[in-house]
Amino acid sequence: ETRTSRPGIITRRPREINKDRENVNISNFDPNYIIYDSSTDTTYLRGRLLGKGGFARCYELLDLNTDKVYAGKIIAKSRIAKPHQKQKILREVELQKELKHKHVVEFHSYFEDEENVYIVLENCNRKSLVHMLKHRKTLTEPEVRYFMTQLVEGIRYIHSCNIIHRDLKLGNMLLNDDMQLKIADFGLATRVEYEGEKKMTVCGTPNYIAPEVLQKRGHSFEADVWAMGCVMYALLVGHPPFETATLKETYVRITGNSFSFPDYVSLSSRNFIKKCLAHEPELRPKLDEVLQDEFFSSGHMPSFLSVSCCTNAPRFP
Ligand code: ADP
Repeated sequence: ETRTSRPGIITRRPREINKDRENVNISNFDPNYIIYDSSTDTTYLRGRLLGKGGFARCYELLDLNTDKVYAGKIIAKSRIAKPHQKQKILREVELQKELKHKHVVEFHSYFEDEENVYIVLENCNRKSLVHMLKHRKTLTEPEVRYFMTQLVEGIRYIHSCNIIHRDLKLGNMLLNDDMQLKIADFGLATRVEYEGEKKMTVCGTPNYIAPEVLQKRGHSFEADVWAMGCVMYALLVGHPPFETATLKETYVRITGNSFSFPDYVSLSSRNFIKKCLAHEPELRPKLDEVLQDEFFSSGHMPSFLSVSCCTNAPRFP
């Protein structure tokens, strides 16, 4: 029996599966699990599970026309029955579609069938900085410099397209086989429509929420710089700067700007994190200037990282 993405409806015979693929391990893909995009006449084979989110399950998808492997976010329509849920997905797709940068997960296509909606994205199969930190507990300063440089470049680009991400966190920093960081998940992102526009609310709860977002004072691009400071702190220290046992207490610390560093964190790291975590958004660094900060301009900067860093601390010369 051939399982298609439209159960009970025979769309077409799958293309002959070529077993001699150069770059693809065909045994990772189920020849009986076919997903068909009728809008572009593209057939995909579903492969291994990459991860699960609130709504989506993400699988490797092999495009049988081109032999390229993508990450396919598959969302059951039964789970997005309410109009606002569908709207949110469409907005995420609309925003991500226009972004093209080496540190932003690239959008490939969007389609649906009776059962599911599919968002086909660039494959980042080395998981995320969450997984890396789980193994490693903390990262070395050169690694943090490496990832933060890529994060800054990605966010700077996103902001230049007038988009605020609003949910930068370790789980949204995906890694590919070259250990390149890719910013993912535009589910809480928004477009700034005119210069100086302040957004009053977010539909959802950002992980590293900035005080002005929490207090509904009006927020903009600076909320991403705050989250960037939280990401860097978490990479160096192993937990976020305002973490407590309860969300309520965490929010008290965020609004009170109450955080501290363990002794081993270097002065240049502390100084940079403190600037990003300035309570007043206008006092946070501008992304066009941050790479000149002492944290980035002094100290070892690896030109690449090995995938072994996902589990073992590297030793730098
Ligand atoms: P949701 O919107 O339902 O929360 P996510 O966007 O968080 O779904 O995706 C769920 C999981 O799928 C992620 O945690 C991640 O592990 C994996 N994932 C998402 N996008 C990609 C991608 N482009 N490449 C590889 N894995 C991905």
